[in-house]
Amino acid sequence: MQLYKQQDIKIYNSLTGKKDLFTPINDGYVGMYVCGPTVYSNVHLGNVRTFMSFDMIFRYFKHLGYKVRYVRNITDAGHLENDADEGEDRIAKKARLEEIEPMEVVQRYTVDFHTILNLFNFLPPSIEPTATGHIIEQIEIIKSIIDKGLAYEVNGSVYFDVLKYNETNNYGKLSGRNIEDLIHNTRALDGQSDKKNPQDFALWKKAEPQHIMRWPSPWSDGFPGWHLECTAMSTKYLGEHFDIHGGGMDLKFPHHECEIAQAEAWNGQTPVNTWMHANMLIMNGKKMAKSTGNYILPNEIFNGNNSHITKAYLPSVARFFMLQANYRSVLDFTNDGLLASEKGFFRLMEAIDLLTNLKTDSTTTFDISAWKQTCYDAMNDDFNSPVVIANLFEVVKFIHQIKEGKATITESDLKLLRTTIDSFAFDILGLENPSKIKDNSGKLEGAVELLIKMRQEARANKDFALSDKIRDELLEAGIQLKDGKEGTTFTTN
Ligand code: AMP
Ligand code: ZN
Repeated sequence: MQLYKQQDIKIYNSLTGKKDLFTPINDGYVGMYVCGPTVYSNVHLGNVRTFMSFDMIFRYFKHLGYKVRYVRNITDAGHLENDADEGEDRIAKKARLEEIEPMEVVQRYTVDFHTILNLFNFLPPSIEPTATGHIIEQIEIIKSIIDKGLAYEVNGSVYFDVLKYNETNNYGKLSGRNIEDLIHNTRALDGQSDKKNPQDFALWKKAEPQHIMRWPSPWSDGFPGWHLECTAMSTKYLGEHFDIHGGGMDLKFPHHECEIAQAEAWNGQTPVNTWMHANMLIMNGKKMAKSTGNYILPNEIFNGNNSHITKAYLPSVARFFMLQANYRSVLDFTNDGLLASEKGFFRLMEAIDLLTNLKTDSTTTFDISAWKQTCYDAMNDDFNSPVVIANLFEVVKFIHQIKEGKATITESDLKLLRTTIDSFAFDILGLENPSKIKDNSGKLEGAVELLIKMRQEARANKDFALSDKIRDELLEAGIQLKDGKEGTTFTTN
């Protein structure tokens, strides 16, 4: 029997404001769409946090045996500097400033995004569509919404008529805003805008003569509005009604609210059962964001080159740090937090390494099966990763007790313990054990050969303190030197 049949997952749904029992539309299948990055700059650690939350969620569904179609797009057009349909396209602006093609900007930062996510051990999504690859689909949706009387064309641009839509639907149901407040709080139009009402949002924008990212359409040479791409790509690959839509908390309004409005106007049904929102990574008490300069780049974490941190950290340590917080809580990025996570991470990995040579007995003094279910219970409770990690530390204690002869485990329980830890620490949380990471580049070999040579020189100079130090510290890093007739060789564990 598939695991998912034994586990009931509750997910906090932004649409209902509570944790709902997750029931997939098609038994055994999960369709999940997550808004991807706008590829006009390097991803910062805040962006990574949101994508990591959904990576963990994707991993858990897969672990349970669901057939998951996970769609995460690349926004390579249409995202303007400002949410109110104003300002330059972010990618076009970067291209202008750097004097390169917009698609060079897209390529550069898409590659950066993939490289960084790989270093953090992300699983690739099932489909990674781009906005520019779905212009035709977006034009077709606009035509249909115009036909239904819920969008209008002015001077080559097309806007969604929010007030008209709200007569029969509820604009604001996701973000909890009501239309009167929105009308009251939205800046009045300055006479330059073609919109009937300031709440309306662009489905298609006519391109100014200098705007190089443009496509022909029935209304003008122009480009689609940002919200529309996600409606086009999610429905194309997951259908008009699918299970889960996710993104960062800051996308709930207006982006996701507008997605719901467009899809309902187009198809007459609500597009998504469960809306999930991951909370923000903050630094210095403020949201981490590229626009304010309050951010840290993943590469700076890996090389320690940033004034907010005192040293370099492994990607898995940063991953562990982020998963020690619930995905719906704000997380404060601090060096002290990372240091504490690093300690915890290595304590966990060392205990896992101890499992390889643990002595077994005829009885087990710890209820492994009950413990295993507590890990599932934590994940079933809205993917509560900090509780999973706390549970893992419970067995770290038990492993040390076995080692010290204060507790016992049978062979079959040891096997169960191992597979359960592997599932949760590596398959679901996506951590990587540093002692298992193999270096295939030959760089490790080169560095160790150099240290072997330095050790030989130290010995020749009768500096045995140094030669022992090199041997011992390599051993601590999992590299064992072996002195033989043909010289010194090494093995890694
Ligand atoms: P963008 O590339 O700006 O479209 O953002 C990509 C994703 O990162 C979106 O889901 C945002 O909600 C998310 N995001 C942006 N800033 C942060 C932050 N400080 N913490 C967590 N997620 C963030
Ligand atoms: Zn989106």
